[in-house]
Amino acid sequence: MNNLAYIALGTNMGDRYKNLVDAIHLLKEETGIFLVKSSSIYDTVPVGYTEQDDFLNMVIMVRTTLTPHDLLEVCLRIEKELGRKREIKWGPRIIDLDILLYNQENIEAENLIVPHPRMQERAFVLAPLLEIDSSIKLSNQKKSLKDYFNMNADKEGVRIWKQKNGEDVFALFEN
Ligand code: ATP
Ligand code: CA
Ligand code: CA
Repeated sequence: MNNLAYIALGTNMGDRYKNLVDAIHLLKEETGIFLVKSSSIYDTVPVGYTEQDDFLNMVIMVRTTLTPHDLLEVCLRIEKELGRKREIKWGPRIIDLDILLYNQENIEAENLIVPHPRMQERAFVLAPLLEIDSSIKLSNQKKSLKDYFNMNADKEGVRIWKQKNGEDVFALFEN
């Protein structure tokens, strides 16, 4: 039970808020997954493939008895259950569930890399993650994730959409 994992959620199709709520609900219903913390929800401008609608992104922290691979399997199953189809790489999606961190483990399997290899470059991941734990560091790196966030060029595209206390603010995200 003492495994701690961070999962990033992203969606830019259909009822984005409902997609997040449904995904978290399904994760909580899984045996061996317990929701500990969740971030605010962020509205974010797409990066990589930019010809698509804005995303909602957030991060949750869970405690789990599942192995990293079993946790990935659950995430992929829930994506499918909510109707995700894989078409364009980094294209529009109903829901995306990425494992960012699993304890302090470094995993490099064919179907699972943890820490998520692109998280440092993504303000839409770092902003909600740092909101949960601002001191977080990757075990093999000198810089903290906050340092990476501060260097990130995409942070202007990341705005708080629904604050954790429930108020919709849609304010520009400021540090
Ligand atoms: P990105 O990984 O750059 O965020 P993506 O989320 O759009 O891109 P997907 O199509 O959702 O990519 O996932 C492709 C595969 O990535 C998954 O089937 C999974 O096996 C693999 N994968 C590797 N590491 C992870 C991880 N840490 N979390 C989730 N999936 C991962
Ligand atoms: Ca992703
Ligand atoms: Ca993914």
